[in-house]
Amino acid sequence: MGKNKQKKTRLREIVLKGIPAAPGIIIGNAYQLYDEKFAIPRKKIRAKLTEREITRFKNALSETRQEILAIHNKISKELGVEKARIFGAHLMVLEDEVLISEVIDKLRKDKLTVEYIFWQVLKKYITVLSKSDDEYLRERVSDIKDVGQRILKNLIGAKHHSLSDLRKKAIVIAYDLSPSDTAMMHRGNVIAFATDIGGRTSHTAIMAKSLEIPAVVGLETITSKAKDGSHVIVDGNRGMAIVNPSKETIRKYTNEKKRFEKFEKHLLRSKNLPAKMLDGKSIELAANIELPEDVPSVLAHGAKGIGLYRTEYIYMNRKDLPTENEQFEAYKQVAMKIVPNSVIIRTLDLGGDKFLSQFEVPREMNPFLGWRAIRFCLAKPGIFKTQLRAILRASHYGKLKVMYPMISGLEELRKANAILKEVEDELRKKSIPFDKNMEVGAMIEVPSAALTSDVLAKEVNFFSIGTNDLIQYALAVDRVNEKIAYLYEPAHPAVLRLIKTIIDNAHRENIWVGMCGEMAGDVTLTLILLGLGLDEFSTSPIIVPEIKRIIRAAKFSEAKKIAEKALSLSSSKEVEAFAREQIKKLVPDITIQVLGQ
Ligand code: PEP
Ligand code: MG
Repeated sequence: MGKNKQKKTRLREIVLKGIPAAPGIIIGNAYQLYDEKFAIPRKKIRAKLTEREITRFKNALSETRQEILAIHNKISKELGVEKARIFGAHLMVLEDEVLISEVIDKLRKDKLTVEYIFWQVLKKYITVLSKSDDEYLRERVSDIKDVGQRILKNLIGAKHHSLSDLRKKAIVIAYDLSPSDTAMMHRGNVIAFATDIGGRTSHTAIMAKSLEIPAVVGLETITSKAKDGSHVIVDGNRGMAIVNPSKETIRKYTNEKKRFEKFEKHLLRSKNLPAKMLDGKSIELAANIELPEDVPSVLAHGAKGIGLYRTEYIYMNRKDLPTENEQFEAYKQVAMKIVPNSVIIRTLDLGGDKFLSQFEVPREMNPFLGWRAIRFCLAKPGIFKTQLRAILRASHYGKLKVMYPMISGLEELRKANAILKEVEDELRKKSIPFDKNMEVGAMIEVPSAALTSDVLAKEVNFFSIGTNDLIQYALAVDRVNEKIAYLYEPAHPAVLRLIKTIIDNAHRENIWVGMCGEMAGDVTLTLILLGLGLDEFSTSPIIVPEIKRIIRAAKFSEAKKIAEKALSLSSSKEVEAFAREQIKKLVPDITIQVLGQ
């Protein structure tokens, strides 16, 4: 027995550096999530193995058929035959003779592994069908993708695919996770995640914060370094993942985890205290949510209201569009739980890194610069109006505000406001109650909007600065690309100048300005933002206590001087060093615990 133990080779500890996405430390076991983006190797096979590959393919088809039948029966029983119909369509894909024989013929000819051939054939079908004029055929694309991924999973022998299959607590390791993957993690067994790609403000990273699980993105090679079941530490504070940690590393991290959690608990003691600066200035400190399920966390962390409700998630992980009533119920539920504080509902911000399965939106070269957010809503007034009606109806039950994402100029803002007015008139005619004084705001997240904020300020009741996008557009740095993450600099003088312009222009028109991008939760920069005159901060609920700690420790008069000095500096590095020095002086415990120094 003892000998056997000795024989066990100790696995080498591997330390990977990535980008911190959500704070906290977790020690646990890895769960490899299969992802279609994993390269499927183009491997030659010997001629005599061709038949074996065909058998593998046929086995995978029959395994998939069994799986789909089981789901079909379960859904029919639990939700009715109607809801299970979609799986009938999936079965039809599996029995498609043309597709099956094309794979087998190609396999015999090319002598490559069946997974490679299958994926090539399937991709061809997807491309052709996506371009079809026939709506029915276009709608089959998502069925083909779903079934194709199942077959592929069975071919490759990946044990896990869907997050809903996860049966015990684990750290999810993936090449990437889509926002719709993360939306499925709610109340699941995922205790942390670590991915190869992604940036600090990708929606995957943002979702990790609202799930309150530590996360690191952009680790580049985590999927090849950690196997299913590997022991892993995720350090979401420093942005690191340690695979096969030594006893010594585990001991160090266990202590650090305890210290960090104690500090977070300590911060929560100020939950019911006001976000007021030492010389009396009050700040609105709100939280961002993605789903109505996030509301308890908003209340638990002492945020005063919701500064950004990202409504895209209601549209995700489903085949149809949410109805007006469904949206109305969701918004009303949130409004009623947050009253007397307010909830800012952002209208649908589709696109960028958030795609919805209901829309076969054409692939774009630059999705963040493409057909997204308000541009999409103005092109689809039916969808936009349904959402606005739901928001207005819900406004009767609490204190709601509405804001439009990605406004880039005056015409766009006026068009959105005109549609809102139309919907209000319709409701008025039908005597459906709504808040006639509901505040309307514009997100300022495009440099053109920031630079014309003097004009836009005349048309709305407030601004909310979306720094996640504003920074990527101002600095020309894709927010989800880990390769250029070093250039994604919130402390860049260009960003500070844009923010100052927005705040000054808004105040000149007597409207208030909030910030709901991740920069609002960057403790290094809180003093500068306070000094620039920001009226409202809206961050992930878990960050709220940290920001409150800084607000309560600072004087507005001092913060103004700090902002002035920061604006005079010439580079992001200089601003950051100066900001860290200031925050370290004022609240050293934040610096040690949150910034890890
Ligand atoms: C932003 O861009 O800063 C923002 C809050 O919106 P989103 O992250 O959803 O794009
Ligand atoms: Mg945005």
